[in-house]
Amino acid sequence: MSAMSQRVAGFGTTVFVEINNLAQQHKAVNLGQGAPDFDGPPEVLRAAVEAVNSALNQYAPGIGMPAVRQAIATHAERFYDQKLNPDTEVLVTAGATEGVFAAILGLTDPGDEAIVFEPVYDTYVPNMVMAGVTPRYVPLRGDNWEFDPDELAKAFNSRTRAIIINTPHNPTGKVFSRDELRAIAELCHKHDVVAITDEVYEHILYDDAMHTRLATLPGMHERTLTISSLGKTFSVTGWKVGWAMGPTALVNAVNQAHQFITYAVASPLQAAAAAALSLPLSFFENLQASYQSRRDQIVDVLKKVGFKVFKPAGSFFVMIDWRGVAPKHVENDMQFAQWLIRDVSVACIPASPFYQESDKHLGKHFARFAVCKKDETLALAAERLLQLGMR
Ligand code: PMP
Ligand code: GLN
Repeated sequence: MSAMSQRVAGFGTTVFVEINNLAQQHKAVNLGQGAPDFDGPPEVLRAAVEAVNSALNQYAPGIGMPAVRQAIATHAERFYDQKLNPDTEVLVTAGATEGVFAAILGLTDPGDEAIVFEPVYDTYVPNMVMAGVTPRYVPLRGDNWEFDPDELAKAFNSRTRAIIINTPHNPTGKVFSRDELRAIAELCHKHDVVAITDEVYEHILYDDAMHTRLATLPGMHERTLTISSLGKTFSVTGWKVGWAMGPTALVNAVNQAHQFITYAVASPLQAAAAAALSLPLSFFENLQASYQSRRDQIVDVLKKVGFKVFKPAGSFFVMIDWRGVAPKHVENDMQFAQWLIRDVSVACIPASPFYQESDKHLGKHFARFAVCKKDETLALAAERLLQLGMR
């Protein structure tokens, strides 16, 4: 008897586990997985500890604690002028990951299609497969990771139920422009499709990049489910507190799935989330400034080494093309990542796991470096990488 269901048998191991294991084995500086190696703001950490010590340790309401739903709605209004009813239009989920999965389960049926942009964050397609939904891929290409509007239009058909948009985008660092989002919105209207947006990097923006929330475009509130989470903005990726926002009908549908997946999310961490979301504007400004400096450092080093660098407009990540730097025996992105760990003691993430099988060649020359690391981590990585430039 085969223990593994056919549903999951084709998934393989996530690239993050594979690279983390190899990085540990070779004591490499890990610029792979997008997890900060520094802690979140002390007042947020304290709020979690205080909640534990105040006996806030039993189940929270399934849709989320009132104080955190209110804080999520207030944050949406503060940054995007988006008005949400905290009682009916906000749902707390176990990270954005559960938010996206519950959204797919709650908003699509087996046999439907859903559109994603490629490279695609690695959980969406397995989520769809588990839900019996067929993914349709629209590639992002060129130096600015643009999509071809005709290709996008052709991806829509009578079976299309949803489109997932991740902006700022993992792994490319692309921030979808207002015009691009308008084009997406138009197609959603035309084909009566729901948009699911993953905006976990909404506060990690570089230079003059502006994050536009699709839900705030004309007529899009009714057909957009916006998902975000605490992990990236507050450097607490291990907490897994996220939220889904949108019109009552969509949020109810997502909750219909959520109630039977996790039922509710860790109470003390929800209490801390309310504190985090209410931090003053200066916190968000300082966060951006510190990430700008990290990104600038890493981009500078990667360029000096000789890589082609795709300067990100947002997110934790920098994509590079490794051709011309890696030795001749390196033929693809996986070999590049392995070689960099073994020979240079720096870990990055190969890009091809973010592409479907038939498009793997599109990611074959790319690798992703995470910038969400302490100064000393970045300095050590820089020291090792720069030696490479001198070889
Ligand atoms: N979406 C994207 C695009 C991500 O990069 C990540 C995480 N690293 C997540 C979702 C997961 O977020 P969470 O930890 O809140 O589940
Ligand atoms: N989102 C993180 C990244 O892209 C990884 C999260 C995970 O390990 N699933 O690096």
